[in-house]
Amino acid sequence: MLLIDDLTVVTMDERRRILTAAAIVIDGQRIVAVDSGDKLREQYPHADLLDGNGMVAIPGLIDTHAHTDQTLLRGLGDQMHWMPFLDDVVEPYLANRDPADGVLANQLAMLEMLRGGTTCFVSPNVDPRDDYAGLTEATGQLGIRAILGRFITPGDGPDTSRNAKTTVADTAAKMRDWHGAADGLVSMWFGLMVPRVAGDAEHPAFYEAVADEAARMDVGIVYHFCSEFEDAVHIQNTYGVRPAEWSRDNFALGPNVLLINACWVTPLEIEIIAESGSHIAHSPVANMKMATGVLPVPDVLAGGVNVSLGTDGALNNNSYDMFAEMKTACLLQNSVRRNSCALTAQTALEMATLHGARAVGREHELGSLQPGKYADIVLVDLRHSHTIPVHDIVSNLVFASNGSNVHTVFVAGKKVVEAGQALGISEADLLVRAESRAEQVRADLGLTAVNTWPVS
Ligand SMILES: [Zn+2]
Repeated sequence: MLLIDDLTVVTMDERRRILTAAAIVIDGQRIVAVDSGDKLREQYPHADLLDGNGMVAIPGLIDTHAHTDQTLLRGLGDQMHWMPFLDDVVEPYLANRDPADGVLANQLAMLEMLRGGTTCFVSPNVDPRDDYAGLTEATGQLGIRAILGRFITPGDGPDTSRNAKTTVADTAAKMRDWHGAADGLVSMWFGLMVPRVAGDAEHPAFYEAVADEAARMDVGIVYHFCSEFEDAVHIQNTYGVRPAEWSRDNFALGPNVLLINACWVTPLEIEIIAESGSHIAHSPVANMKMATGVLPVPDVLAGGVNVSLGTDGALNNNSYDMFAEMKTACLLQNSVRRNSCALTAQTALEMATLHGARAVGREHELGSLQPGKYADIVLVDLRHSHTIPVHDIVSNLVFASNGSNVHTVFVAGKKVVEAGQALGISEADLLVRAESRAEQVRADLGLTAVNTWPVS
């Protein structure tokens, strides 16, 4: 049992209490008490003590849209619209990369995430050819929660129920090998693809089989949805319905479905998504950088849809910084609505914690600092020049903090970051390996940075 003392605890409980002179008691992987330090020291006299040293405890941040395999290409997707971006950069990378580079890229992303206070992420497009043993080992080594959306595509045969069931059962069997691995840190989801451009076929029997199997396995389904103006128009022109109607009619909505982006949803679609219980992962930095569109977050939230946050990836963000994501989410809505309270810091922090936990179907055990939940705890040190003074703690967390404020991180009760350094891996060694492989990966893909300097 461990008692972390001398904390300010942003509980994110039902009343959103912020406790000062507080402590958290952890037993194994779970939180058993959050209360005043005086009280808990008396109540748990034999617990090991950790001096929180005046830091702020927040729940681990949950990044619900993170292409963690992209880190080796950081900076090579700048100034691109989505279609040359997917065709010229993402697809060639997915098709050609060495699985060992995929693991290395994931390790680098996981390291960045943990150091930035992210304790759980959803990677939506994990390729069937990826090294799942390596990914699982890296997850356990670094000690982060990884939800891997394993890409699944329809088989070659006709879209019959029988064919679809065989295809899905085959993938599900492979997913079961890794679901729950690394002491439960790894979860396997279905990473679906739906029609987005001309030439993409639809496969209703396949989508139904995926939905059935996901329900049977009690896992999620994640896919890119209504992200771009063009893919929404494609659905409308081809099928005569809006994307949410198409998804509803093709078994691709539900409480275990996480929709990525949804920038172009209409009021009708907000109703459909809310009714289905599906969730939306909002990635404002990447959406703004690629000029994708603007999810009307206040309308979607008011419509009863759960909206979480995600960073997207190193190619179009170009980082996995959830503090930046929270801040940008607010700035984007305030800016386009010309309303300085369109999206508040409080709502952004909810989106990065509670809403993220709900989006991954784990609201009962993640997303807040309460007894019974997993001890996924981030200790933030606000005593830096950019976060002093602290008149409003949530304002400082969302609008002023960044990853450098993260001091200590626990995931499932295990300390994985201390004094800003990851404990499960040699950071220096990882950085050297990543830098040296990245140059080769870039050269193999024939990619060049958009570099206009020096001017001629
Ligand atoms: Zn994405």
